[in-house]
Amino acid sequence: MDTAQGFWPARADDDLVRRVRAFVAETIVPAAHEIDERDLYPTEIVRQLASLGCNTICLPARYGGAGAPYTAAAAVCEEVGYGSAAVAISLITIFQAQTIIRLFGSDSLKDRYLPRFADGMIASYALTEASHGSDIRSLDTKARREGESWILDGEKSFITSGSEAEFFVILAETDRGVSAFAVPRASAGLTAYIGHNSATFGLRNGPHVNIRLEGVRLPLDHLIGQDGKGVRQAVTTLDYSRTLAAAISIGIARAAFDAALAHTRGRVAFDRTVIEFQGIQWYFADMLARIDAARLLVTRAAEALDAPDHADVLRYASAAKLVAAEVATEVASKAVQVCGAYGTMVNAPFNRFFRDAKTYEIGGGSTEVLRNTLAKYIVKQAAS
Ligand SMILES: Cc1cc2nc3c(=O)[nH]c(=O)nc-3n(C[C@H](O)[C@H](O)[C@H](O)COP(=O)(O)OP(=O)(O)OC[C@H]3O[C@@H](n4cnc5c(N)ncnc54)[C@H](O)[C@@H]3O)c2cc1C
Repeated sequence: MDTAQGFWPARADDDLVRRVRAFVAETIVPAAHEIDERDLYPTEIVRQLASLGCNTICLPARYGGAGAPYTAAAAVCEEVGYGSAAVAISLITIFQAQTIIRLFGSDSLKDRYLPRFADGMIASYALTEASHGSDIRSLDTKARREGESWILDGEKSFITSGSEAEFFVILAETDRGVSAFAVPRASAGLTAYIGHNSATFGLRNGPHVNIRLEGVRLPLDHLIGQDGKGVRQAVTTLDYSRTLAAAISIGIARAAFDAALAHTRGRVAFDRTVIEFQGIQWYFADMLARIDAARLLVTRAAEALDAPDHADVLRYASAAKLVAAEVATEVASKAVQVCGAYGTMVNAPFNRFFRDAKTYEIGGGSTEVLRNTLAKYIVKQAAS
């Protein structure tokens, strides 16, 4: 074992991983409990991550990014997720917004907004509505053309990072179908508020706010990609965000494993340390094997994103998110168990690991929807 890297040797650029690990240990780990407890958006930490180049790691150099592959972005998300899943999901919403613009936006839109991510611009991705969660084929938020403008009306709910976001990607329905729009927070007619259901028990990076849109007027080029093609664009973007979400789940699982191992190596019962009981060692054997397997799947998904033909990216991104989220919950639960009463203490980190892991079985693509995606893929492949 490389003792400098613990049980988790870097699966991407060693140098990058070492730098991010150092930042996570010095800055994120000490702040994680308070961010979770007080449900705070970690603004200062997100700006610091931007200055380390993490927020723009995959953006091309012409937009201020490092042009690195997605294996590197997955490594960053895993490391940050190890320190705090709440900080890591703050990165995910930024990546989601910049990815849809990078893939589908006009040159003017890219030139206007993408360089701002290097300066730490905070962004959110707003799709969900009170009556539309998993099913986004139609939306109650509407967009209509009026001369040289688009006008948006409606309301979004559950928007992660929305308490601090300076910029939103918002999906709305035009007369051609669901479409994506770039919406600065400063737009007249846009308000964000903390609703009755804004606070979650996990992934707490500030309340998941509601965004109200009342006659929000946007220039024509703020339509991202093609009118009516928003669902297809959102699904493509999901392949990226699901892979990175899976990496965050691996980070949570690793953190739970390491913390449980440290506790059981120090705790004495029946004249020996708890880790010396074979029954306890088997828990760790299961945890390690499952984390390793899920971690390899996340790497495979990131490699599919990096491959020029993106072959089977939907398969691996969906499988990675499905498996990693479930593994993280399972590992967090076992970590509580091997730590006994300490595992259940509010001031110990295990309840946070468990809550974050469980919440990620729903946010960013629920396990049921991911199973549907994989099932459709299997049936289609079998018929071809
Ligand atoms: C922590 C967190 C952060 C979030 N952040 C954002 C955000 O930033 N932006 C945003 O737009 N949204 C966000 N969401 C919303 C999220 O995308 C939705 O919660 C998710 O799409 C599920 O929708 P729903 O909660 O309305 O569940 P529902 O659609 O009401 O589904 C209820 C249950 O039925 C299952 N189900 C639904 N359809 C099927 C089906 N066809 N087959 C089998 N089972 C099915 C679901 O998986 C779920 O278990 C967030 C959610 C969470 C928990």
